[in-house]
Amino acid sequence: MNAQPLQSGIADVADTGIAMPQAAAPAALAVWLIRPAGDQASRTAALLRMAFPGSPVTVCPTGAEAIARAATGAPVGVCCFDLANSAPGVLASAIKQVARACSDAELVVLIEAADRAVIADILEAAPSPERMTFLIQPLEMQDAVQSLRAVASRYRAKLNAGAALESRDRDVRRLSVEAMEVQARLDVALHAAHHDGLTRLPNRAGFTSELAARMANGFQNQTVFLINLDRFKLVNDTLGHDAGDDLVRKIGVALGTVVPASGLLARVGGDEFAVVTESLTEQGIEDVCQQLLRVCAQSRRVYGHEVQVSACIGVCVQRQDQEHGDLLRQADLALRAAKREGRNRFRLHDEALARKSSKRLAIEGGLERGLRAGEFEMVYQPIVDAQSTNILGFEALVRWNSPEFGSVAPDDFIPVAEETGVILELGDWIMRQAMKDCRKWGGPYVSINLSARQFLYQKVGERILRYAQECDLPPDKLQVELTETAIIDDVERAHENLRVLRAAGVRIALDDFGTGYSSLTYLHRFDIDCIKIDKSFVDDVTRDHQSAMIITSVTRLAKALGMSVVAEGVETEIQRQVLIAAGCDHLQGYHFGRPTSSGAAAALLRD
Ligand code: C2E
Ligand code: CA
Ligand code: CA
Repeated sequence: MNAQPLQSGIADVADTGIAMPQAAAPAALAVWLIRPAGDQASRTAALLRMAFPGSPVTVCPTGAEAIARAATGAPVGVCCFDLANSAPGVLASAIKQVARACSDAELVVLIEAADRAVIADILEAAPSPERMTFLIQPLEMQDAVQSLRAVASRYRAKLNAGAALESRDRDVRRLSVEAMEVQARLDVALHAAHHDGLTRLPNRAGFTSELAARMANGFQNQTVFLINLDRFKLVNDTLGHDAGDDLVRKIGVALGTVVPASGLLARVGGDEFAVVTESLTEQGIEDVCQQLLRVCAQSRRVYGHEVQVSACIGVCVQRQDQEHGDLLRQADLALRAAKREGRNRFRLHDEALARKSSKRLAIEGGLERGLRAGEFEMVYQPIVDAQSTNILGFEALVRWNSPEFGSVAPDDFIPVAEETGVILELGDWIMRQAMKDCRKWGGPYVSINLSARQFLYQKVGERILRYAQECDLPPDKLQVELTETAIIDDVERAHENLRVLRAAGVRIALDDFGTGYSSLTYLHRFDIDCIKIDKSFVDDVTRDHQSAMIITSVTRLAKALGMSVVAEGVETEIQRQVLIAAGCDHLQGYHFGRPTSSGAAAALLRD
């Protein structure tokens, strides 16, 4: 991740737990306006005087001149760049110069709405993006004054931070340090989502994404080993969780010593590790398994007890055209087969095993039949305005009521539908049904999930628009939800599909934001209208300060890039309050409504 926070609100954070702009008029501070002379210059200067009454505003035509003048004057507090119509390079270089020369100054950049695209470039070029604030023209006077005052209080807070910290209690000090870290290095914080705190190894998300990257780069015959400790629960139950943690940590270190040089070790579950290596011979695979089993089975001292556990391993070798999801699933099947056979053993995935995975096969076979028999149903979950809780739209979620398997969760059958290709037909059905239902509601938009395979299918943009036309649904009542994978798997095709959809007025939402690896500034290139912050961040928001800070930073950055923000999985009123304070405009979750039938959705609207 290289997403950078746009603003920091360190002092505010320490006081309240959440960064909130302080709106009171600040005491005097030196203000610069960098702008060639002219009418607009005096207008912007007037705005600055209104925001900072009593503060001297110095107007300079270039950054260099401002720096030269400043050598003799008071240190600058806020420096405002109003270089509209200048080449982006000129603007970026002026910002760089000033940022270097005035290491404390807050930097405000006025940008024409049409030039938003340069924000990402400026953020990337700027030496300290956390001091930057973008104001998008045309400006609402009141909003602009508020924002400028918030910027000034941030500057003053920064100056006071050293002294203030001394007088604050330990807790607050710890929080503000944490906040600084999070604000200054959001990339690291989000990266942590891919690592396991206990062993410092990559976690499941980190492992999956590394595996996908290796495959995308054409690595052949990758071999995946899934290692699960036998009867680990016994250690937890008899010696306690701290001892269990200690054992897992020690085994993690020991496994690291026998993983081949080209391999990657991860902790993918409580007592489960995974290894991926490059192509190995059959003998090589067996040797690696034996070594992994041997180190797991070593006797170790844990919290004063001598503990010995064993492990089982499931192995799968990548075949041609196999995706990382298949590879992991098949390694998992092999692991479960090994476990069934006993302890301290490994098992390779093979054809016989594949045939045995009958439930999956049954789902695979049942999907097409179910589709013909009309066993699928759409349900709709409200997306609401955070403040008023008025319904703005509904996310369309598919359900499968199978007479054979009962109700099957989408997480279980969507991946199978993707693998087998049924998703294309199912997806078409979903789109048409959702559009028809949306047409009946007559107000709110419908937000439809597109799986990666569906999205990368050629001409999906055109097909969506054709269905909308058939259902007589205006494209602006339509939003599609995509994951990062769908976009970066095939950047060119994604660009084309997105271009067609956006040109017609369909909104694009990025689903599950925060679970992938790409930065927001990178994803912004794909003209995304809205990001949906993943439920895992929302879950922690009232318990863990970092999650609130991450959401605040992401929200600010998203807004500066012109995207709106939906937080998903909101279950309590407290979460709602924290998310409002963090700047989220739109919310979704059981707190506002569970997924419900189209008719019930219409009734919700009437109420
Ligand atoms: P998603 O797109 O992230 O959808 C949100 C999931 O979170 C839904 O689960 C929803 O019911 C659940 N959810 C919403 N609010 C809350 C909450 O407050 N608490 C909790 N615990 N859960 C909440 P669902 O319907 O089981 O769908 C799971 C996933 O399956 C979806 O995740 C999506 O990736 C996929 N999916 C569902 N319907 C479709 C579809 O029509 N097409 C495609 N391609 N994928 C779908
Ligand atoms: Ca979704
Ligand atoms: Ca989601």
